[in-house]
Amino acid sequence: MIPKVIADARKIVIKLGSNTLALPDGTMNRAFMNEFADQCADLAKAGKQVVLVSSGAQVAGVSTIDRWARKKDIHYRQALCAIGQVELMQNWREAFAARDLHIGQLLLTREDFKDDQRTLNMRNTIFTLVDEGVVPIINENDSVSYEEIRIGDNDNLSALTAILWSADLLILFSDIDGVYDKNPKEHSDAALIPEVKDITELRAGITIGAANSFGTGGIGTKLEAAEKVTAYGIPMLLANGSAPRCLETLATGKSGGTVFLARE
Ligand code: ADP
Repeated sequence: MIPKVIADARKIVIKLGSNTLALPDGTMNRAFMNEFADQCADLAKAGKQVVLVSSGAQVAGVSTIDRWARKKDIHYRQALCAIGQVELMQNWREAFAARDLHIGQLLLTREDFKDDQRTLNMRNTIFTLVDEGVVPIINENDSVSYEEIRIGDNDNLSALTAILWSADLLILFSDIDGVYDKNPKEHSDAALIPEVKDITELRAGITIGAANSFGTGGIGTKLEAAEKVTAYGIPMLLANGSAPRCLETLATGKSGGTVFLARE
């Protein structure tokens, strides 16, 4: 099922979580970023278009400045995002440049999706970048966002992006293989759910546990993202980003995940 869903999609939004982009010590996982850019280049050669939604600015900020790790103050958290966003994009730029691909950055807030003119501008920018072979990399503008205007997590941001760009598929890479009936980090007997047709039914049947160290959304926001995109006819995949060549193995069926089927 998953290889077919990927094969059928031309326009793909891919979201990478903080846990996937950072090593356990909080530094950027450059080897992963290089390998990922390589797989995106292969997709482009196969005629597919990719938009990335990349988390990891705050983690990158802490490891870059090597201070403020424990500061809870919002100004420090936002300052860390300002520092880390540069580090994050520098790493992505190097990774994609090695494959002769340019990248473009869009930093968005909830307000941007509410305003018609801004939405139109964002949409046009994404279309222009992609049409010209440039890979857009999107993140929430955490240095200006505050509670009331935040999307709050990149799962929902990637869903809004997929809808905005009229994508054919949304893929979320996390540090788990998919949705389980209970948190696999806490229960060794948790069972993976390979296919979801009805998200309301799924919610009623599973236990949603706590998120991980660097993660913000947890599985709850991934289900919200699935609800959003499937309502627009866009399927969603949730898979493990820590597996070697995660995108390729998913496309060839060598690894699995959870597929959320689009509503008819
Ligand atoms: P990311 O940074 O990739 O977005 P998060 O840490 O925010 O990831 O969310 C994924 C985490 O959600 C998993 O590592 C897992 O521990 C937790 N989780 C809680 N309940 C479940 C469940 N029912 N199925 C899968 N994962 C779950």
